Amino acid sequence: MNGMEADIERVLLNRERIAQRVDAMAGEIAAVYGPSRDGIVIVPVLTGALMFAADLIRRLPMRTQIHMMAASSYEGTTGTEPRLLYGPGDLVGGRHVLIVDDILDSGRTLQRVIADLRQHGAASVRSCVLLRKPGKAVTGVSADFVGFDIEDVFVVGYGLDFNNWYRNWPDIAVLRPELYA
Ligand code: 5GP
Ligand code: MG
Repeated sequence: MNGMEADIERVLLNRERIAQRVDAMAGEIAAVYGPSRDGIVIVPVLTGALMFAADLIRRLPMRTQIHMMAASSYEGTTGTEPRLLYGPGDLVGGRHVLIVDDILDSGRTLQRVIADLRQHGAASVRSCVLLRKPGKAVTGVSADFVGFDIEDVFVVGYGLDFNNWYRNWPDIAVLRPELYA
């Protein structure tokens, strides 16, 4: 056996805790939007939000449409200026939009995504992140819904990657330090 398991140093949030919290977040989101015939537009930010969005969306009781957005900011473990690779464009015009992202770190990605959705005329823009690293958001951007506050470590799993690996690890975990070198 030479799978991913050997690369994991420790599990920060196991799959059961994640599932429980995602369930609760769906309730928080449903309470804020309430029932509405217009429904909302979910914008998952790929690729990191893939698992989170898939689990969260299935727990939301209201009418939803989904438009993927792709942003890219990380190479290895170093953040750079986020680029939007594609998104819904004018399809969000006049609509209530909920951004779903994996993690709020500096806030640059979220800031860029929010600006794009507003520019395309969204009626409202809220955001939901599974993880937040407190104290690092230099942009003043905050999320409306937050799953977990975590310490300032680079995490992988449940959609989060290191060089596009480990996204399919079901828990959120920290890799052995020598792998980041
Ligand atoms: P920000 O733009 O807020 O600095 O960073 C947000 C993006 O950076 C996230 O959507 C995620 O793609 C990536 N990122 C930030 N911290 C981590 C981390 O600990 N692990 C992984 N895999 N990606 C991270
Ligand atoms: Mg991301």
